[in-house]
Amino acid sequence: MDSELFLGLPRHLKDITDQVALGGGEPTLHPDLVEEFAQKCKDYDLICNVTTNGFLFREWNNEKIERFCENLTMASVSLDKAKVKNWKDGNEYLNTCKKLQKHPLVGCNLLIDKDLFENGNLIRMTDRLFEKGLDRVFSLYPKNFPGPDILPHKNYYLYLSTRYPDFYVDDLTYKILDEEKYKDWSRPCHYGKDIVSINEKGQVSGCSFSKDYKLKLKEPKDILKIEDVDFEDRHTCPYIAR
Ligand code: SF4
Repeated sequence: MDSELFLGLPRHLKDITDQVALGGGEPTLHPDLVEEFAQKCKDYDLICNVTTNGFLFREWNNEKIERFCENLTMASVSLDKAKVKNWKDGNEYLNTCKKLQKHPLVGCNLLIDKDLFENGNLIRMTDRLFEKGLDRVFSLYPKNFPGPDILPHKNYYLYLSTRYPDFYVDDLTYKILDEEKYKDWSRPCHYGKDIVSINEKGQVSGCSFSKDYKLKLKEPKDILKIEDVDFEDRHTCPYIAR
């Protein structure tokens, strides 16, 4: 995103939200921009979180990590089958998360796959993440590629959310489990409601998977027009591929 547009956003975002999450692309590829953005968020009393693949933290020294994280509330490090091959092993992932722990809160964004429902793997993995000091585990259902049938495993989610107050699921998982079906939900999901997405071109959509852009930001204060956008209700997720 044009840096003038990007860095001008917090001043106006504060009028419509209290939280911003920076994510994919990879925020650690632009540390100076993230640091400046997070500083502005702090100035305007906005929570700023980051989602990252975490790979660069392995090379950064403490000083650089500290600078990057100084004004962040939470850094969430993604963990999924596609990325796992870039870590030497689970310990390297956990040790990298530990490097961050002196600074903001640290979360794991855990993408669900069918292996996690075998032999209690999801429970074992979540236990280990919390044992190692992570502050939050955020379980995500795959979008745009096939995910497992989670309904027969509802008990995993019940157990983990009862045991760990900081075990969360994404909106799609929540809708599936809550309504016990994959579509025709009685109540719509959060598309365009509690959350909206802004991409690198300043295009605004109802969630980060949607290419149905409702608005294009030309200057930072255009963000205020979001309040006038009419996002349709979605009673199923078009990004489920199963
Ligand atoms: S449409 Fe978007 S907000 Fe709704 S469940 Fe799907 S990914 Fe989530």
